[in-house]
Parts: sequence; C-alpha cells; structure tokens
Amino acid sequence: MIDKDRLWQSHMEMAKIGATPRGGVCRLALSDEDKVSRDLFVKWAEEAGCTISIDTVGNIFARRAGSDADAAPVVTGSHLDTQPLGGRFDGAYGVLAGLEVVRALNDAGTTTKAPIDIVVWTDEEGCRFTTKTMGSAAFAKIIDEDAVLNGVDPDGLRFADELERIGYAGTMPLGSLAMKAYFETHIEQGPILEDEGIPVGAVVGAQGQRCFEVTVTGEEGHAGTLPMNARKDSYLGAAKMAVALNGVAFKHEPHPVITVGHVRVRPNSRNTIPGETVFTIDSRHPDDDTLSRVKDDMIRACEEIAADMGLGLEMKPTSHSPAVTFDAACVDAVRTAARDLQIPCRDMFSGAGHDACKVAGLTPTGMIFVPCKDGISHNELEDATPDDLAAGTAVLLHAVTAAANA
Ligand SMILES: [Zn+2]
Repeated sequence: MIDKDRLWQSHMEMAKIGATPRGGVCRLALSDEDKVSRDLFVKWAEEAGCTISIDTVGNIFARRAGSDADAAPVVTGSHLDTQPLGGRFDGAYGVLAGLEVVRALNDAGTTTKAPIDIVVWTDEEGCRFTTKTMGSAAFAKIIDEDAVLNGVDPDGLRFADELERIGYAGTMPLGSLAMKAYFETHIEQGPILEDEGIPVGAVVGAQGQRCFEVTVTGEEGHAGTLPMNARKDSYLGAAKMAVALNGVAFKHEPHPVITVGHVRVRPNSRNTIPGETVFTIDSRHPDDDTLSRVKDDMIRACEEIAADMGLGLEMKPTSHSPAVTFDAACVDAVRTAARDLQIPCRDMFSGAGHDACKVAGLTPTGMIFVPCKDGISHNELEDATPDDLAAGTAVLLHAVTAAANA
C-alpha cells in the first residue's frame, strides 16, 4: 500500500533543497544543491535497505534485492535536477515514487523475483551543460561518454570536474546494467489530465522533435533616413516568418506544436534597422512522417519570405529526436494496474522529452503521467496534489511488481 502522506512529506523535504522564494526549486545539474539532493536520496534509499551503484556519468542506481540474484532488475526513476526556476515535482516525482514503491514493499514484507532499481538520471534538464537527458542518453549510448564528460557550462566548468567535485563520479561502466523493464512516473506538464479529471495517464509514446536555428540577414540602416521601400529589415522578415510558421502548424491535422522561443537582434539598437536576426524553431509531432512534412513546409515558408524581401536566410538544424513508441506490454501493464486499482486512466502522448524516451531503445519501457495544476511546469508555480501523486505511485507499484514477478 502506498503511504500518501509519506510520499508527500518526502516531496516537501526534497523541495527544500534549492528552494526559491516563489515556492519553486533551483537545482542545476552537478551544483551544490544537486549534491545535497542526491545525498538525501542515497540516505533514504540506504535506510530502505537498497544498495547503491553509480556509473561513470553519475547516474545513481539504488537496488532492492529480489529472490532471483541472476535476474535483471525492473528499473524505475527519473531526475532530481531542475530548471533555474523549476518546480517541486518535475523529475523529483519519478524518483520519490520509486522510493515509495520500495518502502511500500518493505512495509508489506514482500520480496519480488527480480530486483527493483530506483534510478536518478544525471542532468535531465540540459540547461547547464546544454544537452537534454544527458545521463540517460549516455547510458543508452545515444551520445558519446567523452562528449558528456568534456561538456562545459557557461562558466567554463567541465562536467567531469563538477561530477568529481560533488562526489558522484562512479565506476560502473555506462550501459553495463541490463534491465528487464523500465517505468517512469512524471507530472504531465500539460493540461489534459486535469481538464478531464483523470488522475493517471498511460503514456503510449512521445512526440518527435525537430529544432532549427535560423539566421536572417538584412542590412543595417538609419531608422530616420532610410525610406521604408529601401530597407532590408531582418527582424521584420523574422517576424513574418514566425507568423508563417504558426500558420504551418494549423495546416496539419492533428496540429504539430511550433515555437519561436529565442530571438536575437543585431545590433539591437532602437534607431537602427536590424541587420541580422537569429531565432530558434522548436517543432514537435507524434508522427515522424508528419513532422518531416512540417519541416519541409517550414523551410519553404521561410524561403519564400526571405526571397520576397531580399533577405539572406540560413536554417541550421540543431536537433532531431524521432518520435518514441513505448512498449505495448509496458503500456498495457500501466492500464491493467489502473483498472485493477479502479483508478481512471487514459492513453496519451508525452509532449515533452523524458529519460524514458532514451531508455526505450534499450529495454521495454512505459510511463505514467499524473496531472499538474493548470498544466504548468518548468515554473516555480508547478503544483500537484497528494492524491494524484499517490494514485500514480500506486499504479507504478502494481506495474513494477507485476513485471518483477513475471
Ligand atoms: Zn522532468
């Protein structure tokens, strides 16, 4: 049985580490706060009888032994790092739900056949060392270990040095752990579950994502003297492109999501016509073929505007993650657990990327979503209810136990 109050108290304790004035959390990867949160997790896991292993990029595995010493573990977890102005539940929930599963099994005196590992993935957020889901991607050998270890933050500090400094440079070789299955619980980070009053989502997959950095080149000029028809205004071109990209999103059904989230204007002076504008595009869709057509449409739309206005244009792809389909048996295990527990549950896609998306290529993987207030995440105001967190964790306990005994 899940202990709702214990689960909530653990969240509130963890949220004190890096707490921000507006009720959020700042725990950047490999910072002092990350170290303190890892130490607290390790202490709790050891108190719950787990054995700790740490791999070479700092991913932590806390094992509750099973009756079959040779069996590969069922793994569950998420991350403890946050955005600079993050919330109390993004990531921490997946870790603490895993801990609650172990504590509940201890309470019941139950031994599963396969071991259960709680994992804390290093640097999921990617806001300090620039690559998202770094620890799980390195574990899955999607990104190179040396590239991770030699990554530098904006202050020039090396990932490997920072990992060493906080005491989490482990010796376990990357990816040497075979898993029987992987389950991750996470807040939805969107509004669907809350809007529909459903406490649990069985995540069937995650959207594909294509990102670009777009450079629009025009010509600087005097804001007072250059007539309107003689201008090559790079920002005006970029603005028209942003509107056109929005139009591309509405052309496809179901709609992809397209975001222009970062804009840099040069020289960024109030009385000079902008000579160069750089902006980012983040586009996502659950279907790779559609996302590929969206990409073609986005390129065409920007090219037409640039040609029409006599502007230079470069569209550099900066990342591409294919859509992920989670393992049918794992998704079904989540649905079955919810049905057996009489907890309402619906199938859904993940709009965000998660560690589970990286692990999905290695081992059968499933995810469980719970609602978050107003769908708000990556925000200090991020919130969730003790009841919903407990419902998701009860489903996790059920699914993990079933997989470990199968
Ligand atoms: Zn997260």
